[in-house]
Amino acid sequence: MLFDSTLSLKHNVQIMKARNFRYIRPDSLQHAYRILEENGGDAVPIAGGQSLLAGLNMRLSAPKLLVDIGGLKELAGQSQRDGTIRLGALTRHGELLQSDLVRKQLPLLAQAAAHIGHVAIRNRGTLGGSLAYADPAAELPACSVALRATLVLGSAAGEREVKAEDFFKGLFETDLRPGELIVAVKFPAPQANTTAGFAELARRRGDFALVGLAAMVSARRDRIEGARLVYFGCVDRAKVAASVSVAVSGLAMPVLDTAAFEREIRQDLTPDDTPGLRAETKLHMATVLTRRVLNSLVMQAAS
Ligand SMILES: Cc1cc2nc3c(=O)[nH]c(=O)nc-3n(C[C@H](O)[C@H](O)[C@H](O)COP(=O)(O)OP(=O)(O)OC[C@H]3O[C@@H](n4cnc5c(N)ncnc54)[C@H](O)[C@@H]3O)c2cc1C
Repeated sequence: MLFDSTLSLKHNVQIMKARNFRYIRPDSLQHAYRILEENGGDAVPIAGGQSLLAGLNMRLSAPKLLVDIGGLKELAGQSQRDGTIRLGALTRHGELLQSDLVRKQLPLLAQAAAHIGHVAIRNRGTLGGSLAYADPAAELPACSVALRATLVLGSAAGEREVKAEDFFKGLFETDLRPGELIVAVKFPAPQANTTAGFAELARRRGDFALVGLAAMVSARRDRIEGARLVYFGCVDRAKVAASVSVAVSGLAMPVLDTAAFEREIRQDLTPDDTPGLRAETKLHMATVLTRRVLNSLVMQAAS
């Protein structure tokens, strides 16, 4: 028997459930491409389901067909070759925390993954899913831009590569074309004198960040030589905060005074007021985080 799955209960509580959809588990990447191409806008890939399913249950979207890419071995795995680290799109957030390769070569990703939701979410959620979803408060899009990552995108028409800094186009908006999948993400191995810094402020541990910062910084003799700072939670998309990155370059560490980059934070971030949090407060939090992250690099060097 079919029934309307939006149930109005006593006390005006509404339980929302997804509209009916078909589900398919392709047996190869080429099979997935074919299904996506044949079904056009009716089909949507699902990886870890940690963002998509919530959206379906809230009826923010109603695809007719879910294409489960979660078992495709072509999208899994981690490797390092010729100075490039390649992580399959299905790399789970939890794997970023545990992988020796990631912890050694891309510690920024491991630091960031610890802040994503809770264990159950980290066990299911994937790197590719997070980048494709492009939530402006998510950690991994910001890290991929800070780390100069390149996304490998595939479809029935073949593969192409897009730099992370060109991939994020706006709020929940990316360069992905219809029928295209993120296959893998490639990261250049970090240079010798470059250090990763990461911090975020959230209301509770595991909540999405109100303001966060992913940073790659090069320093010599207690002076910052160059920085690539990417904020999240207080911007519309993952992008380099170009003015702040320039302003902090040349500063002596530890950074005691924030005056050298406060104006640039205001210039690069331009956040909006949101319920319960004024734009001014976000700018203040971003300023505090910037000093905190830069000074954490001194502590890392000392340890
Ligand atoms: C309670 C809760 C708390 C959370 N907290 C955080 C948090 O603090 N920080 C954070 O970053 N995230 C958080 N998340 C989201 C989580 O990180 C998701 O895992 C992630 O955003 C999406 O990954 P996924 O594999 O689950 O993608 P899915 O939900 O399966 O898919 C998300 C979107 O990406 C598309 N997609 C998935 N894989 C691909 C691919 N390979 N190629 C092309 N398109 C693809 C899907 O079609 C869909 O549109 C939270 C989720 C929950 C439920």
